[in-house]
Amino acid sequence: MSHLARRVTAGVSAASGIAVAAALVATPVPAQSVTQAAAAAPAPSTTSDRPTVKDPTAVGKGGAISTVDPEASAAGLKVLKAGGNAVDAAVAAAATLGVTEPYSAGIGGGGYFVVYNAKSGKVRTLDGRETAPMKMPQDAFIDPATGKPYTFTPDLVTSGASVGTPGTLATWDKALANWGTLSLADALAPATKVARRGFKVDETFRQQTLDNEVRFSAFKDSKKLFLPKGDAPKVGSVFRNPELADTYDMIAQRGTKAFYRGKLAKLMSKVVRDPRTTKNTELPVPAGWLTPRDLRDYRVRSQRAARTSYRGHDVYGMAPSSSGGTTVGEALNILERYDLSAMTAEQALHHYLEASALAFADRGKYLGDPAFVDVPVKRLLDDRFAAERACSLNPAKAATKPVAAGDVTSYDGVCSPSSAKGTTDADTENISTTNLTVADRWGNVVEYTLTIEQTGGSGMVVPGHGFLLNNELTDFSTVYDAADPNRIQPGKRPRSSMSPTIVLKDGKPFLALGSPGGSTIITTVLQMLVNRIDLGMTIEEAIAAPRATQRNTTNVTAEPAFIAAYGPALTALGHTLVPAGDAFTSAAEIGAATAIEIGPRKRLTAVAEPSRRGKGSAKVVDPR
Ligand code: GLU
Repeated sequence: MSHLARRVTAGVSAASGIAVAAALVATPVPAQSVTQAAAAAPAPSTTSDRPTVKDPTAVGKGGAISTVDPEASAAGLKVLKAGGNAVDAAVAAAATLGVTEPYSAGIGGGGYFVVYNAKSGKVRTLDGRETAPMKMPQDAFIDPATGKPYTFTPDLVTSGASVGTPGTLATWDKALANWGTLSLADALAPATKVARRGFKVDETFRQQTLDNEVRFSAFKDSKKLFLPKGDAPKVGSVFRNPELADTYDMIAQRGTKAFYRGKLAKLMSKVVRDPRTTKNTELPVPAGWLTPRDLRDYRVRSQRAARTSYRGHDVYGMAPSSSGGTTVGEALNILERYDLSAMTAEQALHHYLEASALAFADRGKYLGDPAFVDVPVKRLLDDRFAAERACSLNPAKAATKPVAAGDVTSYDGVCSPSSAKGTTDADTENISTTNLTVADRWGNVVEYTLTIEQTGGSGMVVPGHGFLLNNELTDFSTVYDAADPNRIQPGKRPRSSMSPTIVLKDGKPFLALGSPGGSTIITTVLQMLVNRIDLGMTIEEAIAAPRATQRNTTNVTAEPAFIAAYGPALTALGHTLVPAGDAFTSAAEIGAATAIEIGPRKRLTAVAEPSRRGKGSAKVVDPR
């Protein structure tokens, strides 16, 4: 029997939840570590209870998990082994990522949760995106002192002005209530333990801290937590976050209202509206608008997935407020018109890049929060619309970018000449975020992407609570335009690119995958699907393959290995390839994906990155 059903109505045995919970009870807390300030201490001689080994591939049965982090994967695996289902394990792993990947995810952020329910055979989604505070004005990104727009960096990214009402905790609570067997308290237990006993600092954590040194130094509480002796924690030291452990404990005892109401809600509002900056910071740190009322009124949205079919597969992605599902889906619909498997790799990649540019043009024109603007999801995913968009794809030559958006109000699938010019959609999204994939023994699958937006979010730690607030509102268009579907509006969700995706074949899960990476999330998911379904790669090869991303911009951004392998051939087709990398990080990488493939006889292949972002961690319950 599937455990993925409402606890009460579907009669999932309470004993199962209790047994799982018993197996997860956190070890008693040494009194001193609760009061001790977060600090990096030398690693103990044994780290056996601190998982550090990263295996990017695991094959077996009985359940599987893949995340970027060995602690999070271990927490999820423990839940699966104790009899918890995929939803229980996903929440336990996500809460652990809030501890070990605090710069990418946590209760100060938001995300999108996609579930395949083996019992109903349906895919469902939760939209736990951050929302704009009700008092956020349309000119929020204009500096009142000068009347001119704030700079994106540093003004907006490190600010209260970009902090949206967080949705992550409400998402965990709703996912468990809908489909889990564990209480929120029990699902938080493994993460609470990791926060208290600490995790081993790796190079990625240290580097991400250093990348944020100036921002964290601007806030007393962030500096105290993440730069404890004036430096980022050393590689190999143990990083503890007892204040986050206490916050998780408080939520475990009192439920989500401990976060969305009362003292903590007031405190979050206070620091957003009056950021606690250090005296000598030179960062401007504009104030924001978050109120206790915004927190009290936050609601997760349950909604239908965005679905498209692709060469005999049903691809389920995230509907708006994310642009992920429609943009991946539209590009697949365009690509389906060509036999990519009969092409050379370079020709197939040319088609991938061009289809992606066309879909991004439509994303820019049509995508926003559907509670505020009319998003033509059906039309964007209509095969006839794709047929007409494919008319602009020249198999022998890259189009001049940006390409123009299509017209969803008038199309018949027939090619007609167009001289329309495109506009570039300003891309301010970053490369942060984290993603996880879980499958359980009953056949349930979860794909979950969560974020606090930029690596390090707004830079602001909530005093005494050990977590960072997001800067997700920077995903709104920076310049206000009344015709723009992604313009600032109070209570609205900014457009996302997160693309947690579950693929069914013959009605059964075949593949689940997702990635961080701002707007490159879309192309990473698309490229992995093409690699796996069209180009004959295994899922291990599909995740490891070098990446490139074309988001309707003049240049194609690509990893060095991609340029080395395909640069000359793609340049001959008219593409201009430039190496990946941004102003915030030195990494010339795109994405940090996770995936699980479900093979014949329920054989699970869980994969994480073999090298990007310091490697990921894949695990199975029963390796064979
Ligand atoms: N804000 C981005 C989005 O919603 C995610 C952040 C990132 O991946 O860098 O798509």
